[in-house]
Amino acid sequence: MEFTEDEQAIADAVRQLVAAAITPSSDQNDRDQVYPRANLLALGQHGYLGMTVPPADGGGGTSYLAQTLVVEAVAYGDPATAVVYEVHNSLHLEAIHRYGTAAQKAEWLPPLIAGQQIGAFALTEPDAGSNAAALATVAEPVEGGYRLRGGKVFITGAGEADRYLVFARLPGTLGRDGITAFLVDKGAPGLSFGRAEEKMGLHAAKTGAVLLDQVMVPTSHRLGAEGAGYDMALRLLEGGRIGIAAQALGMLGRALDLSLTYARTRKQFGQAIGRFEAVQFKLADMATDLHAGRLLAYDAARVREDTQQGRMAAAMAKLFCSEAAVRHCLAAVQVHGGYGYMREYQVERLLRDAKVTEIYEGTSEIMRLVIGSQLLRGDAAPRLES
Ligand SMILES: Cc1cc2nc3c(=O)[nH]c(=O)nc-3n(C[C@H](O)[C@H](O)[C@H](O)COP(=O)(O)OP(=O)(O)OC[C@H]3O[C@@H](n4cnc5c(N)ncnc54)[C@H](O)[C@@H]3O)c2cc1C
Repeated sequence: MEFTEDEQAIADAVRQLVAAAITPSSDQNDRDQVYPRANLLALGQHGYLGMTVPPADGGGGTSYLAQTLVVEAVAYGDPATAVVYEVHNSLHLEAIHRYGTAAQKAEWLPPLIAGQQIGAFALTEPDAGSNAAALATVAEPVEGGYRLRGGKVFITGAGEADRYLVFARLPGTLGRDGITAFLVDKGAPGLSFGRAEEKMGLHAAKTGAVLLDQVMVPTSHRLGAEGAGYDMALRLLEGGRIGIAAQALGMLGRALDLSLTYARTRKQFGQAIGRFEAVQFKLADMATDLHAGRLLAYDAARVREDTQQGRMAAAMAKLFCSEAAVRHCLAAVQVHGGYGYMREYQVERLLRDAKVTEIYEGTSEIMRLVIGSQLLRGDAAPRLES
């Protein structure tokens, strides 16, 4: 996999920024559940938000791969910041960039690109998770716009983000039909938020419910056409899944580096534990899957750039990278022995943080369904077309 000079320079620079400005506070922010607003602002100030938006719209005009490298680097330093970055960038900002009118882009993109405002993505509902087409939040057309009523759950940044991309359906519609996207400002009357969920990991990335009680949304805040919301959500999630693959890779890379350091320094039976084959094999499998995962994720990013598509490539990347991250973060705890079970050594947190990459933005089961159904439909696997 070849990087352009630009991509390599971005990868090097963002790693330095993360090491200096994000990693040092990661552990404390996780303990205190501090939402990473300051980190998003720093990333925005350094040009890492809206990277794929053309310069004419205020973005960086860089490749999707460059953005993927940024997510990986951020996740290496702080997995919670990586998911907030990923939702803000790939799901919210990208939606406005791809589907917004000129007026919507001019008004909303600049503060999102600068990191002064944070965007959220509100699709999931209590009875509509993997099956998003079952969502029940209603958008009732009224004079001047729509009134939204319903509720979303598990929303990253609920109550912290400044604007919510909310998917709701027109009255009397069923399934994918009638699902429409709206941008709802945090201060909108009738919008409220549930308490922060107590999670297994990613404690700094607040997750909670978004409640809509007759929220008036002007027509100017509808994104795309009426009924275009479902396809929009799926297309955005294709990009998002590459980001989650990269988030998983960041954690896997960190688990490998911590395990290597420990295997070189920890001595038992008179020698470094890295000299034992059982430990070496774990390290070898971690490094091999990290490399394989990078090839999948970076290739999925290139496919998305080249073809504006790539549902199968994105699903393969997310499936492989998330499962590899969970498997190897668990192995990293084992390499660290009893110390691995202690918070101080950081690998137990990586394991807790990594688990959700197999769940959000489409579970592993759904990724297998996407890949399987596309194969059965006759679609070629990525890059294997004759
Ligand atoms: C920390 C966190 C942050 C999140 N952030 C956001 C966010 O910002 N915005 C947002 O909209 N959502 C968000 N989500 C929601 C997330 O995307 C959903 O949890 C996920 O899509 C799964 O939906 P569900 O939880 O309802 O599980 P379900 O869909 O109920 O699935 C339960 C189990 O059944 C399996 N299953 C379901 N259908 C099938 C099938 N057809 N075939 C085989 N197996 C199946 C699943 O794989 C899973 O194992 C977040 C979730 C978490 C945990």
